[in-house]
This record gives sequence, structure tokens and C-alpha cells, in this order.
Amino acid sequence: MASAMSDGHRRFLQALMSHGIVEGSEARRLHRRCCEVHKVYYAHDKLDDFINIINTCLQPLFMQIRKGISEDDGRTYYALVNLAETEITKMASDYAENELELFRKTMDLIICSANGFASSTDILNLVDELQTKKMKKKEAEQVLKNLVQDKWLSEREGEYTLHTRCIMEMEQYILNNYQSMARKCNICHSLAIQSQECETCGIRMHLSCAGKYFKAQTEPRCPQCNDFWPHEIPEINWTDSHLPSNSPGERRRASSSGTRRR
Ligand SMILES: [Zn+2]
Ligand SMILES: [Zn+2]
Repeated sequence: MASAMSDGHRRFLQALMSHGIVEGSEARRLHRRCCEVHKVYYAHDKLDDFINIINTCLQPLFMQIRKGISEDDGRTYYALVNLAETEITKMASDYAENELELFRKTMDLIICSANGFASSTDILNLVDELQTKKMKKKEAEQVLKNLVQDKWLSEREGEYTLHTRCIMEMEQYILNNYQSMARKCNICHSLAIQSQECETCGIRMHLSCAGKYFKAQTEPRCPQCNDFWPHEIPEINWTDSHLPSNSPGERRRASSSGTRRR
């Protein structure tokens, strides 16, 4: 028996539509508020059931609220994703053809890099290679800003990676289209963009997965080839989404320190 959406479900959906993605604790707060305001049955551990009711109604629209883990901080997030189109064409209404081309080329750089980042310099150098229509560097900078604002890319200190929402929406597209270049995390087996790579056998691990895995090891060694793990082990004091968060600055340092190779 499928339950119908209440006003509480609709309010939750509207909030997700306007934010695109919300962190797990925020989703739980929102769940509670929506149920209280609209006098809908509430149980704190029933968020996934609550979302399933919304998803049943979204199905004919080829939309879905999906749960995923962020590569930035290892936390759970909920994002509203579009299942109708599995390609970048879903962005076509918001971006011009040459802007999409720049995004595609940026994705190539990020996915083919060893750590999941592309520098703004490398991205802006792509502008000269655009086939569809020329773009000035200044315009490209604005496109990058828009892509960050729309949560396709995320940026820290001049380095770009794919936004959590983008990965949640495009994981299958990336795995299909990049094949051997797109690799899965050796620990959690989902797509790994921001990651550490074994220089010997080439396996990858998410930063949060590497942090958790190596915490239990006396000496960091690759789980596949047993060679010494040549990266700084990420700190993972921020991975439990039930704990209060550190300051963003602290988290940023923890998740990016020693992980970028140039
Ligand atoms: Zn992982
Ligand atoms: Zn290895």
C-alpha cells in the first residue's frame, strides 16, 4: 500500500528543491520540522521511510531523493537528483554549449587526475581548446563561479573537484563514460574522485575511507599490494555525522592536507 504525500512531505521536498542537497543532520531537523508544522506522524528514525513516500511520488517525474556520502567530509547527504537524463545534457537549459564543453573538459581533468582535483590555471588553459565557441578567460572564470554556485563543482584554494551533488547525480554516467579512468574506492566500492592512490598498484581510497582504514593499522600499507602507503593519512574526526561539526576551516585542512600531488 503506497502512502500518499502529506503537506509535510511536500514541504520537505520543496526545501530540497531549493537547496539541491542537504547534510544528514539538517535533513533530520527538516524532517522533524515538516512533521511538526503539518501534524504528520513523526519518528526520528523514520527519515528514510518518509523520503521513500516522496520518492514513490517522484518516480513518474524521473526524480529521486538520493542518499550519499560526501567525499569532502565523509558525512551523509540527501540530494534531489534527476534520473531522466543520465548525461550532462540535463544541464543544457542552464548553460550554453561552450560552457558545457568547458565543464566536460574540466570533468576530464578532475577524473583523470591522481587526487581528484584540477587547478584553476589548468582549467582556464582549456579555454583555447574549445571547439564549440571561443570564450575569454574572464568569461570562463564566471562560468566556473556559476558551476560552483549550482553545485556541479566545488572549489577550495583555487583547486576544483566535483561537488557531492554532482557525483550523486552523475555517478553512473561517469562510470559508464570514463570506464578505466573512473575508479572505485577499494574500501566502500563507490566512485572515488577525491582520493588517494597507491603508486604501485593504482587502487584508490576516499580520504574518509583511507582515514578510517589506516586508523586501525600500525603502519599504513596498501590493502591490495601491501606496499607502503605514500600519503599523509587523513584525519577522520569529522566523519560521524551525529557529532557536532568542526569549524569549516579545520575540516578543510584535515581533508586536504598532504593529499594533493602536483
Ligand atoms: Zn570509499
Ligand atoms: Zn597498492
